[in-house]
Amino acid sequence: MIVILKQDPPQKKIDELLHWLEDFHVNINIVKGAHTTILGLVGDTSKIDIESVQAKDIVESVQRVQEPYKNVNRKFHPDDTIIDVHGEKIGEGHFKVIAGPCSVETEAQICQVAKAVKASGAKFLRGGAFKPRTSPYAFQGLRAEGIELLSEARKETGLPIVTEIMSLAHLDLFNDVDVIQVGARNMQNFELLKELGHCDKPILLKRGLANTIEELLMSAEYIFAGGNNKVMLCERGVRTFETMTRNTLDISAVPILKKVSHLPVIVDPSHAAGRTDLVKPLSLASIAAGADALIIEVHNDPKNALSDGAQSLTPEAFDTIMGDIKSMASYMGKQL
Ligand code: PEP
Ligand code: MN
Repeated sequence: MIVILKQDPPQKKIDELLHWLEDFHVNINIVKGAHTTILGLVGDTSKIDIESVQAKDIVESVQRVQEPYKNVNRKFHPDDTIIDVHGEKIGEGHFKVIAGPCSVETEAQICQVAKAVKASGAKFLRGGAFKPRTSPYAFQGLRAEGIELLSEARKETGLPIVTEIMSLAHLDLFNDVDVIQVGARNMQNFELLKELGHCDKPILLKRGLANTIEELLMSAEYIFAGGNNKVMLCERGVRTFETMTRNTLDISAVPILKKVSHLPVIVDPSHAAGRTDLVKPLSLASIAAGADALIIEVHNDPKNALSDGAQSLTPEAFDTIMGDIKSMASYMGKQL
């Protein structure tokens, strides 16, 4: 349920209303916008009589929210959420590119790629330390050492680091990570989501291979329910009957997510396509559809990459595409 208050109500009246609502044992989120104050009520609101709320003199209107996602719903928070990582903002017109290799392989590799993507205009460095691989015999990532090497690359370039968590057991290793990624395969690892709800770091939440948009929003709701409201949603393609691409980029997810949620939306054209030649068109389409950021795989030697070489751009190709990305983003009125 959302309760929209009249403009500038006296604090005493707000306190009285909150006090009255407390008896219903619901969580109350207060969102103060420039002109309006909204109370978002989450929990069992069935006992709250809508007309009694409406009758309070500071209440402008009351609405029941039918959707199962509440905190991430734009009805609860009409303004776009901005995620600010050491001054680098994503959301509400702030557009960023996150780039780097699929996997962190060596110090030289990650530092070389970090410097190259920074020179081309990327503002965040990605790199997998814990890798979710289909085969147990494939490269599993450098694990804790991979995170140390990412920190080294951050020291050399200043780029905040984004890396994927696969298990709750590794959470302590992520203390120094700037943005924690939850990969497609863990989108519905609810215990992991609950724990990330208690941490004070931005979470890049990827859509699962076969999950609906609503399921993605419900996973974000888990993180919010724990108290962490720094979540970014990532469309990375879903599995379909198509074989010419690794996945099918669901471009409609972008405007839908922007419409129904206030959270920033990121697109990963690399994992969506699985091939380098589609990274540019899918990037441009994503920006045109309203994406707030892109996450792109770049490797200094894609042919010999330990994972996802087929979809990884060389630093040179990335630099060229960045020119087009910047033009499209500024055409869409974004700040880079
Ligand atoms: C990745 O970003 O390296 C990754 C494994 O992505 P996804 O979870 O989208 O497959
Ligand atoms: Mn990858």
